[in-house]
Amino acid sequence: MGAVPPPLVPGLLSMSYVILKDACEGVADCVPVCPVDCIHPGDGNNAKGTNFYFIDEAVCISCGACLAACPIDGAIEPD
Ligand code: SF4
Ligand code: SF4
Repeated sequence: MGAVPPPLVPGLLSMSYVILKDACEGVADCVPVCPVDCIHPGDGNNAKGTNFYFIDEAVCISCGACLAACPIDGAIEPD
């Protein structure tokens, strides 16, 4: 039985952006601008038949850089 980790600050849990899998076109302009490297390629293709990326919400600091860089309307939203 290991020690239970301390709870995260509750407010931080909801602070992240999300990539909508079926809107993303896998352009990956968002990836290099993320200051915490939390945008990763997803497995396989989405409904558009393109690859897609996802945001690790546990790491995202909600800076909005990815949203500014993404050329696809509606692919990234504040969560
Ligand atoms: S979220 Fe936008 S910039 Fe990032 S991979 Fe998808 S389409 Fe490209
Ligand atoms: S909001 Fe900022 S930290 Fe979060 S995925 Fe986008 S660029 Fe990365």
